[in-house]
Amino acid sequence: MEKLDCRACLEEELIEICLENNIKKFRANQIFKWVQQKGAHDWEEMKNIGKEDREKLREILYLQPLEIIREQRSKDGTRKFLFRLVDEESIETVLMDYDKTLSRDRQTICLSTQVGCPVGCSFCATGMAGFQRNLTVGEITGQVLEVMRYLQKEDPEFKVTNIVFMGMGEPFLNYEAVLKTIEILNSENGQKIGMRRMTISTSGVVPKIVQLAKDNSQVGLAISLHSAKDEVRDNLVPMNKKYPLAKLIRACRNYQSITNRRITFEVALNNQNTSREEAKEFVKLLKGMTVHVNLIPVNPVQGSRVKRPSNKEISVLKEILEAGRIPVSIREEKGVDIEAACGQLRQRLECEVYEPINQN
Ligand code: SAH
Ligand code: SF4
Repeated sequence: MEKLDCRACLEEELIEICLENNIKKFRANQIFKWVQQKGAHDWEEMKNIGKEDREKLREILYLQPLEIIREQRSKDGTRKFLFRLVDEESIETVLMDYDKTLSRDRQTICLSTQVGCPVGCSFCATGMAGFQRNLTVGEITGQVLEVMRYLQKEDPEFKVTNIVFMGMGEPFLNYEAVLKTIEILNSENGQKIGMRRMTISTSGVVPKIVQLAKDNSQVGLAISLHSAKDEVRDNLVPMNKKYPLAKLIRACRNYQSITNRRITFEVALNNQNTSREEAKEFVKLLKGMTVHVNLIPVNPVQGSRVKRPSNKEISVLKEILEAGRIPVSIREEKGVDIEAACGQLRQRLECEVYEPINQN
């Protein structure tokens, strides 16, 4: 029988597994806490579970920690982690604004959901590097568990409080895994991260927007809009050819009518989408919806021809949106010095030999 991934199991699934294997039901609660609350790396760590049960469990479930093989620290406090996966693929995860002297009530981690990304946006390093595969539930939850465990060595009180699915990959092309990860991270006996403290960002996979409204109306939704004109958006976000703006906005309105939640729209400002005309189109497109628009001057990415606009152009666009009563903010990115900002994540194993830095 193929072993199951322990990090991908909900507590109720562990209960079933225990009962099927003649292990007392309360063990499921202990295992879940060891795995999802403490981030255990091995069955040996689970001291309150008898050896016999541990050996039985080892036969049924596998516990596969992710290797952190590199940590980078930005001067603004952002940290970036490079993980090596079992098949030698690699992914990056970012902890924004981390600084132990700052408030502990907001520690936001930016998770990857795929190795690479098939969408191929023209300004994004992840997209430019192509697509390898979806991440598993264990690999997505694992990013939170490993970062937590690693940083608790410096600061035993450290806790991740907010999650954004804005790392490598398109979360809605790995929908089932992302939704299960959210359920696990939200669990009472796990990390207990509030649903409203988690946000999924999508390039616009329309059927999944409506699906999310039905499956989970608590988690936040961000749409990578980037342009209000199909001919421009087709170039920036190739997903637009499949799901053009009219369909995308219809799905967003539908989502809002079901959930009543505000939607965040992201616009990576560049030389193709920062004009007065574009700003007026944004106002028309978003009229009547409850939204917040985040303007992000595009971060530099090697090999991309997309350029950052001038500050003057950015403020003109912002003023037009404000005049159209659209709540808007300009977000300067974090961690640009270590290539940890939006769109700068990529696989980076190249030919260096790395040793894991988070064993034990
Ligand atoms: N694939 C999802 C989530 C990951 S990308 C999505 O596209 O929404 C996270 C955010 O970074 C998206 O809004 C994306 O458009 C933005 N982004 C990508 N490359 C960027 C760059 N070079 N500068 C600024 N933002 C970028
Ligand atoms: Fe994929 Fe998002 Fe990058 Fe586009 S911006 S290539 S959807 S990760």
